[in-house]
Amino acid sequence: MAVKTEFDLKKTRNIGIAAHIDAGKTTITERILYYTGRIHKIGEVHEGAATMDWMEQERERGITITSAVTTAFWKDHRINIIDTPGHVDFTIEVERSMRVLDGAVAVFDASQGVEPQSETVWRQAEKYRVPRIAFANKMDKTGADILLVLNSMKQRLGARPVLMQWPMGQEDEFRGIIDLVAMKAYTYGNDLGTDIQEIEIPAEFQEVAAEWHDKLVEAAADLDEDVMMKYLEGEEVTEEELKNAFRKGTISLDVTPVFLGSALKNKGVQLLLDAVVQYLPSPLDVPPIKGATPDGGEVERTPEADGPLAALAFKIMADPYVGRLTFVRVYSGTLKAGSYVYNSTKGKKERVGRLLRMHANHREEVEELLAGDLGAVVGLKDTVTGDTLVGDGDDPVVLESIDIPEPVISVAIEPKTKADQEKLAMALSRLAEEDPTFRVHTDPESGQTIISGMGELHLEIIVDRLKREFKVDANVGQPQVAYRETITRMVDVEGKFVRQSGGRGQYGHVKIKAEPLPRGGGFEFVNAIVGGVIPKEFIPAVQ
Ligand code: GDP
Repeated sequence: MAVKTEFDLKKTRNIGIAAHIDAGKTTITERILYYTGRIHKIGEVHEGAATMDWMEQERERGITITSAVTTAFWKDHRINIIDTPGHVDFTIEVERSMRVLDGAVAVFDASQGVEPQSETVWRQAEKYRVPRIAFANKMDKTGADILLVLNSMKQRLGARPVLMQWPMGQEDEFRGIIDLVAMKAYTYGNDLGTDIQEIEIPAEFQEVAAEWHDKLVEAAADLDEDVMMKYLEGEEVTEEELKNAFRKGTISLDVTPVFLGSALKNKGVQLLLDAVVQYLPSPLDVPPIKGATPDGGEVERTPEADGPLAALAFKIMADPYVGRLTFVRVYSGTLKAGSYVYNSTKGKKERVGRLLRMHANHREEVEELLAGDLGAVVGLKDTVTGDTLVGDGDDPVVLESIDIPEPVISVAIEPKTKADQEKLAMALSRLAEEDPTFRVHTDPESGQTIISGMGELHLEIIVDRLKREFKVDANVGQPQVAYRETITRMVDVEGKFVRQSGGRGQYGHVKIKAEPLPRGGGFEFVNAIVGGVIPKEFIPAVQ
């Protein structure tokens, strides 16, 4: 039975969990689903099919590739968790999820601090102006050090982190968490993290907690004038005032509150959920999305359920049970099951079949998705990632879309059995439809099928999926790597190299764009913006 989905938008959080691979995103997500009652046993996420990481390869490889949405409830709030993968080959997936979420939890391994991938994800979040809180996970691990996390966030990310909690012990001594806002401590009565006791701060931690509480009040004073006045006059700043100041500061991207814990040891995840509700924005707290009209005019769409429909498709997924799923975020208006919509990117009418809300272990059929909400549409045929859906063709607004990078690596592919050629072609086109960074073309000279993607792992997974999902065994050739930067070099009138600067590609006056030849792994010039012949040896070697 389809149900109505009226829900207070103020109590909705559309969030992502962004992390370096291995920082513990899967474990945290699983604990969230457990504490919010979505799964009933820790470990299900790795075992069952009805989980966030439901693709077999993901479990085998220990990475999360798909980017779906899961809805959970915490203290009267609805939390839509948009899955964001952490591996570099899937930055497009991260990017598109960043596009549709309102806030994120940046997870760090407390023994490593900021790692290279965390930097990439952080920059993407900055680009889309996604407010963040941070979670220092693995506080129980050897080498865990909350100050390492804090300092590396400042140095490597240029962030302004504010420590909201202090650990009671670190590494194998980690046993509880001090809330530096409320100045209370939490200890754990069992291993599942379900028995939490709130206690006074133990004597041995009082001094350090007071020191960090003062720093926190100072940071709040920087964010809020009233707090500043009180602070300067030596008056007590209340817990509520501190929380409000940090909520404001987080949403305006001025600060990143830092929380800590150990997902594996079941410590800190409920407090993190409280923080998601407390500090991350609702769809009403973020600026309205911008869009363009066909005549180039700029419009904004606000999250009002009775406004004109504007929704963005951010993920296509082949679902083993219901077929093609199109994940959308509704920015304004109401998307109704069984209605006709207009894909304003393609200029095509489409019919919405059923609408689904995905939970960890079941799908809920809903009648409508309201502004601010996310869900999956069954039945759309031509809509792909980045497309806008509106109510009808009279209002063909196109929402700010998602940057889709060009693939960087190509390989020739052929079926092991000649007879599978057609099956392979069909499977590849299905996969390309799902994944905008995966491309297929036929080399005009050799007639070979060439597939391109974001990295070797990306293509390996494609080949794996061909076998598993489409039952096509394929062989691939040597990968060819494209050099993707626009290369600018200074050469003299004879075309002799003068100097180079920056990366491998930044030079003074002449711009060359290198693109891969279809075969052979070489490069050819596409354009030289300032004259002169550009010698071929200036082109960087194949990576
Ligand atoms: P993901 O790649 O970010 O999804 O990370 P996973 O959740 O798969 O975790 C990677 C590894 O770190 C696994 O072996 C987890 O058991 C382990 N792990 C996750 N959280 C913690 C933690 O809080 N403490 C410790 N010591 N290990 C953890």
